[in-house]
Amino acid sequence: MSLSAQQTLASLTKLKETLSGEVACPGDEGYDYGITRWSDSCVKQAAYVVFPKSNADVSEAIKFAREQSLDLAICGGGHSFAGSSSTEGGVVIHLGKYINYARCDPEKRLLYVGGGATWEIVDKVGMEHGLATVAGNVNHTGVGGLSLGGGYGWLTGRYGMTVDNIVQLTVVLASGEIVTANEKEHPDLFWGCRGGGCNFGVVTEFVFKAHPQRPTVFVTYLLYTIDKLESILNAVGEWEENQGPDEGLHWGCHRPGTPTLLIIYFYNGEAAEGRKKAKMFYDVGALEFLAHHSTRVPFPDYFDNMLGPASERATEELPSRSILVTSHLLPATVEAIQAVLQAQEELIKIHPALVRSGLMFEASPKQAVMAVPLEATAYAGRGSGVEGMVFSFYQDPSLDDVVRTEVRQWAKIMTEKTPFAESVGTSYANLDPEAASSDAAKVFGSNYQRLREVKRMYDPENIWNKWHPIQPAELPN
Ligand SMILES: Cc1cc2nc3c(=O)[nH]c(=O)nc-3n(C[C@H](O)[C@H](O)[C@H](O)COP(=O)(O)OP(=O)(O)OC[C@H]3O[C@@H](n4cnc5c(N)ncnc54)[C@H](O)[C@@H]3O)c2cc1C
Repeated sequence: MSLSAQQTLASLTKLKETLSGEVACPGDEGYDYGITRWSDSCVKQAAYVVFPKSNADVSEAIKFAREQSLDLAICGGGHSFAGSSSTEGGVVIHLGKYINYARCDPEKRLLYVGGGATWEIVDKVGMEHGLATVAGNVNHTGVGGLSLGGGYGWLTGRYGMTVDNIVQLTVVLASGEIVTANEKEHPDLFWGCRGGGCNFGVVTEFVFKAHPQRPTVFVTYLLYTIDKLESILNAVGEWEENQGPDEGLHWGCHRPGTPTLLIIYFYNGEAAEGRKKAKMFYDVGALEFLAHHSTRVPFPDYFDNMLGPASERATEELPSRSILVTSHLLPATVEAIQAVLQAQEELIKIHPALVRSGLMFEASPKQAVMAVPLEATAYAGRGSGVEGMVFSFYQDPSLDDVVRTEVRQWAKIMTEKTPFAESVGTSYANLDPEAASSDAAKVFGSNYQRLREVKRMYDPENIWNKWHPIQPAELPN
């Protein structure tokens, strides 16, 4: 064994002895779990996966990676579309196995959440006290990545972005130091983490504001034949003009088979009231009639499967790879949607396996998001408009390159025919499949210079170089 191999082994043995958690190497039990991600296209072969149980464990993992000059990745819920929580040959700090708790302080209306938790547990624990925060729309998404990159969900219309609801963070820095960040302690770090993603360290605990939440919400899930496209666009337009802060709308076009229009309407209130508010969608006539389902659901379950197979974790029956590109758009036009559907049909003719290709628009009321000044947090996407997404879900890795190229092309068609909405970035930073090669100056707009300064203070050697990497500012002469 060479000296350096011996040294590595000695360091690994020391790490294993020091940790209260575990380390898995290729072939070890737990390793496959540690590198699995929501989309198989984001799986990378790490050299080590560390499953910390404490802040001190996270610190040790960072020191080990730095001593060995290994790349570092942080994994929360593993839902990144860009592979930002994976590393080829480096060290993954995987928070999901052990640091995945949520607890509630109902007196102070606060939720304390481990950096590797998913939203499911946060919803359950909060609702035991009739409280909730702004979670994602799907409850298996990780709290970590979603919150640090902005975060929106069904409660955004009322309470803004997830970052607007963070009151404190515990962060393990590149130096291994464990710090508390809030408005008073490390305020620059607190500012930077709220929108700056994983650029500043490992967040082991989030503290969120919790808001009173009724136990049931109204959700309606409507399917229409594609010839209703124009009527649906008119109904969406009418809804957008009248939307209130307790509503939410997702709509789009799904396959397999003949494209089907889908409306998911959400109202955080009584069912009878919700039905009235969604009248324009019923009036279209869901229904030469593919399905029509309206329900009053308990709040913690409200997003389970609401987005259909596309949101479920991969199973043997469902495609396990996904590529999705999003743009921050004004309301779509019939022409734009038809052009994208046509391009998708042409691709499906050549590659029938890409039959689960479609598009989706996510429209949360934006007043609460835009009421927060742009410079209040690092999050830079506080514009009007909707997130317009084009995507393909598939199984075969040999199609990765084709899908990547085509999905980008569909996004281009969409944006050429639908103007961008007023916003700093052109898309939501958490949904950029090519985040690693993005232009951070564009993503963070007028907040970028300050982010560079904060990066220099907390990660001058740029060891956190995933997601949208921020270049540390140069030292003054
Ligand atoms: C099915 C699905 C539904 C989605 N719905 C929504 C939605 O409704 N609203 C929304 O805003 N977004 C949504 N997203 C996008 C989501 O915000 C991103 O995928 C986000 O990256 C998920 O976070 P994660 O912790 O699961 O991901 P991961 O892949 O674990 O991490 C993503 C990034 O965050 C970093 N990170 C994660 N945890 C931590 C931590 N504790 N400390 C420091 N860095 C960390 C990682 O290093 C990585 O760079 C959805 C994504 C999917 C796949």
